[in-house]
Amino acid sequence: MHTKIESLKHQMLVDLKLAKSETEVKDVEVRYLGRSGVFNDILKGLKDLPDEQKRTIGKLANETKEELEADIVKRNAEIANEMLGSLADSEWMDVTVPGAVPTAGHRHPITHFMDDIEAIFAKMGFAVADGPEVELEHYNFNMLNIPEDHPARDMQDTFYLKDLKKHVLRTQTSPVQIRTMEKQDPPIRIVTMGKTFRKDSDATHSPMFHQLEGLMVGKGVSMANLKAVMAHAFQQIFEDPTIKTRFRVSFFPFVEPGMEVDCTCPICRGNGKLPDGVPCRLCKQCGWLEVAGAGMVHPQVLKNVGYDPEKVSGFAFGFGLDRMVMIKHHINHLRLFYENDLRFIQQF
Ligand SMILES: [Zn+2]
Repeated sequence: MHTKIESLKHQMLVDLKLAKSETEVKDVEVRYLGRSGVFNDILKGLKDLPDEQKRTIGKLANETKEELEADIVKRNAEIANEMLGSLADSEWMDVTVPGAVPTAGHRHPITHFMDDIEAIFAKMGFAVADGPEVELEHYNFNMLNIPEDHPARDMQDTFYLKDLKKHVLRTQTSPVQIRTMEKQDPPIRIVTMGKTFRKDSDATHSPMFHQLEGLMVGKGVSMANLKAVMAHAFQQIFEDPTIKTRFRVSFFPFVEPGMEVDCTCPICRGNGKLPDGVPCRLCKQCGWLEVAGAGMVHPQVLKNVGYDPEKVSGFAFGFGLDRMVMIKHHINHLRLFYENDLRFIQQF
């Protein structure tokens, strides 16, 4: 009896070793330790033995059974481990290998510049306002003090819309000022940026170009405020605190007085020539660049939107964004911006 138990135990350990999955282990368990398993047969046979043997064999049989049950748990753990090991082998990867970098999109230099401008003016309390590109003549001209027979309409070669009466492609971003003032009471502090359209096309002009325009209206807004905002803005735009601004009298129908704004040439820094003595071509050696148009909002424009020019005043300014980016990045041809040549775009 004793040897029989020992040999059964040995046999079962061999079978267990051969079992390669939890299901196979379960089979072994049922075959040996199950209700109608080999071990139970032995325990059933105990009753025919003498008392002394009943006790010793019974004890041995029970101990062996417990031992084997522990072996089963152990074997199951081994199998689980082996499976993990083979998974690690078959699905091994090197996490230090650099990944494939997807081609990312790229902001256009003008868009990039517009974001910079937005940040510069936001710091001075200006909000961004927006308006339609297909505009009513009413907003593009009339409300800006440019009535139908006004010679200023000839100053801007306008695209009129054939099938849409009294509509134009806006020639300037100024109509956004009017739309904002109609909707809002002073104080107002806005900048607006966007596409404008004129029948113009050469190295420095394109039929579509971008403009920035600023407007500040409130009690006691003066020319001093305009000068301070312009001076600070151009220093920020060209990232040079030595940039100076100067103002020359000029004419725009929607401001009175109107002026041209010049700033120190950011290429030669006002010297007229580059450090190596080469004459500066951008400012034609005068050291100044004409960069913006500006002025105090015309009282008639304020009246047009229902403001009282006796109570509030304001200033406005505007400039071409494309030209500013050209100056900043030393680009000599405007069309480069619109030809979508990636070799150009990716430099920014
Ligand atoms: Zn210069």
